[in-house]
Amino acid sequence: MAAIASRRHLAASMLYHNQVNASSSHTPTLLVHGGAWAIPSSDSAAHETGVRNALEAGFAILSRGGSALDAVQASVTILEDDPTFDAGRGSFLTSDGRVQLDALLMDGGRMKAGGVACVERLRNPIQAARLVLEESPHVYFVGAGAEQFALAHGMSLIENSELVLDRERQRLLEAQARHASGLADETFSGNEVANVTRFHDDKGPETAFTLDNHNSALDSHDTVGAVALDSSGNLAAATSTGGTLNKTPGRVGDSSLIGCGCYADNLSAAVSLTGWGEPIMKLVLGKWATDRVAAGTHPELAAREAIEYLYNRLGGHGGIILLGPDGRFGLAHNTPAMAWGIATPSGLHTGLNI
Ligand code: ASP
Repeated sequence: MAAIASRRHLAASMLYHNQVNASSSHTPTLLVHGGAWAIPSSDSAAHETGVRNALEAGFAILSRGGSALDAVQASVTILEDDPTFDAGRGSFLTSDGRVQLDALLMDGGRMKAGGVACVERLRNPIQAARLVLEESPHVYFVGAGAEQFALAHGMSLIENSELVLDRERQRLLEAQARHASGLADETFSGNEVANVTRFHDDKGPETAFTLDNHNSALDSHDTVGAVALDSSGNLAAATSTGGTLNKTPGRVGDSSLIGCGCYADNLSAAVSLTGWGEPIMKLVLGKWATDRVAAGTHPELAAREAIEYLYNRLGGHGGIILLGPDGRFGLAHNTPAMAWGIATPSGLHTGLNI
């Protein structure tokens, strides 16, 4: 019985593999996000502009026949350079007032990945991730080792203070004052009141009860990400973040962990997530979603199911962009907003809500 089941499984996966590789021309498609959280209306325009700029840079590469990997790297570089977002310069600060960045890049055609975490002296960690992907037998570097690897491969090291904005110093002070007075973090959830019957993630402040009418516009969680399909049929994904506000130095979230905040495999899908990282990483949510696409679920449904699973299982809040090898895609979030954009040969679209 077991042998028959496993032969059937093998036949099904070969069929899927052949379907994925049979089609010779693919419609280049790029999706980006700029974080899922309670985006205040005063920041809406900056988010949509940033996402549009990222789409234009990435899609220019896809349109001239470039690779999905180059496209997601270019899009995320633009978003890292834009201080609107929680990636690169302008990121949230750690509890001791520094910027610590995490990023991952994955090539679904070659099944290669490169990641860096807790880097403090790189302006564009996604470029360091690319160097890890291309130049190292290893997949993941952290801290000083990651910075030295990047330096040895031609990147410049900068002072951490070049990544720190006054806006973020102020935001950190406010977050620490709120924390000291026992108020909940509503960054991802808005002011939703927690449902006591749900199993709450014990480390996710977003699931805490709302204790006041705290203005979540003071917070921002703008991790950035991109997924792409190129004309050769290859998928790639990239995610880059400054992590969560007031995080303890050395903390790594979901964004740069393979299968958590980022994943790509031509035989399943490409995904990038955003939201409070601890619940996302415990559910290995990126891989969870791409496995569903490989099993035949439409990415639109798989994206919605992933966010429902995040909420129902751990009370988590976040957003997802998911792209299949046939160009079908899905976006979902359960935060009040998510900055998103999509580019195909028919045009560019951006939005702040699905
Ligand atoms: N997922 C990121 C983290 O936990 C934060 C975010 O998406 O905004 O580090």
